[in-house]
Amino acid sequence: MHYICTGEDKGVSETPGVCQGENCSKKGQPLLPCDCTDNNHYGRQATVEEEKNNISGTES
Ligand SMILES: [Zn+2]
Ligand SMILES: [Zn+2]
Repeated sequence: MHYICTGEDKGVSETPGVCQGENCSKKGQPLLPCDCTDNNHYGRQATVEEEKNNISGTES
């Protein structure tokens, strides 16, 4: 059993608590209990990196 943050920092903790990520939109919110064994957290830690796909720096 572990506890996950679903915010930007995708935090994982072995103990219950709240997110402490300074730049995380879920900061201060309770971590979700999770018992997955494959680090996918049942897909609850959605990827929030879509913006990075715009970087393709071989123009000009
Ligand atoms: Zn977080
Ligand atoms: Zn998990």
